[in-house]
Amino acid sequence: MNRSDYNAEMVAQFRSQVLEHIVPLASKLVERQRERIGLDSMKYYDLPFQFVTGNPTPKGTSEWIVEQGRHMYSELSSETKEFFDYMLDRESLDLLSKKGKDTGGYCTYLSHFQLPYIFANFNGTSGDIDVLTHEAGHAFQVYESRGYQVPEYHFPTSEACEIHSMSMEFLTWPCPSVITTKCLIWKRAEENRTQAWTDYLALCREGGSKSFTELIAVAKLDSPFEAGGIQSVMKDVERWLDQIDDKAL
Ligand SMILES: [Zn+2]
Repeated sequence: MNRSDYNAEMVAQFRSQVLEHIVPLASKLVERQRERIGLDSMKYYDLPFQFVTGNPTPKGTSEWIVEQGRHMYSELSSETKEFFDYMLDRESLDLLSKKGKDTGGYCTYLSHFQLPYIFANFNGTSGDIDVLTHEAGHAFQVYESRGYQVPEYHFPTSEACEIHSMSMEFLTWPCPSVITTKCLIWKRAEENRTQAWTDYLALCREGGSKSFTELIAVAKLDSPFEAGGIQSVMKDVERWLDQIDDKAL
C-alpha cells in the first residue's frame, strides 16, 4: 500500500495548487455555513452544526439503508448489482454498532473466499450512508480485481484507493437523495455519467497492478501534480456549488 512513483517536487506542486485553488473554496463554504446557521464567527466546534432545520438523517433503519443500497447498486450498473448481491448473499457487511464491537469503518478483503468485507458502526446519521457508499467503493474495486493471482495487486496504493471510494460517493450521488432528508440534485448529463462509469470500471479492474500516476492515466484523470490540473476541476465544482440555495435547506 506504500508504493509511489512521484517525487517531492511533484508533491510540492500539488500542495501549492491545494493552497491556491482548494483552500479558498473550502473557506467560502465555511463562510456560507456561518451565514446559514446565523453565527457571528465560526469556531471549529461549530462545523458539525450544518442546518438550523437539523442535520440530514437517514429516513429509515439500517436494514432499510441496506435495502436502499441493494436497489441503488442494481440501478447503477450490472457490475454493481452483481457485486452488492454477492456481498449480501455472503453476509459480508457488518454495519450495526453493538456492545463490545470495535470502532471505525473500513473495507478489507478475504482473499481465500475472494470476498470483500465491510465493517462499520451505523449511528443514525447521514454518515451511515457516506460510510456505506465509501467503503462499497473500496469493496467494489477489490471485487473487480479479485482475479489477480498476485496478492499485492488486489488493492493499489492508498491514495489511488481513495479514488475508488470517493468516486463511488459521487457516482451514487443522485441515489442518496432517496435516502437522506436533505437532498441536492446532481445535474450531470447522462452521457458523461456513462463515460465516467466506463472509466471508473477500467480503473477498478487495474487493482494494484499499476502505480498511482499510471492508474490516473487509465482513468483519464488530470494529474494533480501538473500545473492547472486542479484549477480546471475546482472551477466546475465552484460553479456547481454556487447554484445551490443552501439557506433554503
Ligand atoms: Zn477510503
